[in-house]
Amino acid sequence: MYALQTTPIQCPYCGEDIDIVVDTSVAEQSYIEDCQVCCKPIEIFVSVEDGEIIELLVRSDDE
Ligand SMILES: [Zn+2]
Repeated sequence: MYALQTTPIQCPYCGEDIDIVVDTSVAEQSYIEDCQVCCKPIEIFVSVEDGEIIELLVRSDDE
């Protein structure tokens, strides 16, 4: 099964709300996504349970 869910996050660099697409068939994942507004790399950590996103953390790559 292939389950994609669009979720809003806030960019840790510019503070803009952007939408990311999460594959909810994967229980734990982390990846880098470039901000659609300022183009900086955002580190994203996602936990999924029963196809629902239960935890979503975003971090800047600077620190
Ligand atoms: Zn940004």
